Amino acid sequence: MKDLLCDQFQNTVSEMMLCHRSILEVLAKVQESGARVQRSVVQSVTACGCQKINANKNKSPLPEDATLIDLKNLLDSHISGELCSNCRDNIESEIGRALFYMTALCNLLDLNLYDIFIKEHKQLEILREYNLT
Ligand SMILES: [Zn+2]
Repeated sequence: MKDLLCDQFQNTVSEMMLCHRSILEVLAKVQESGARVQRSVVQSVTACGCQKINANKNKSPLPEDATLIDLKNLLDSHISGELCSNCRDNIESEIGRALFYMTALCNLLDLNLYDIFIKEHKQLEILREYNLT
């Protein structure tokens, strides 16, 4: 059984994409929307300041037997602070727009978004089990 929300979203995107049918235009929009997601995150640091980026090289090599859980604790995200509501809204909007164009790409290629979620989730589960043993 397909996920209803996912399929509804994909159908709505399909209806909205009547004016943007070219694969070339959709590919360009996928790239542009991805860049806008990155820009919105950067703006939370440079324009707002609710988040800070402090990146540096790892001080010690990672243990060879490190699990995914170990890596989560050993590796730094290089970001600190907490998104303010304005930046959160902005980033969510940009991610939503990126999802829209990724879904439009699925539509043009006759791919089902929910099937992709399931497939990717299964891959992640396999990877997690492999790394936890
Ligand atoms: Zn902010």
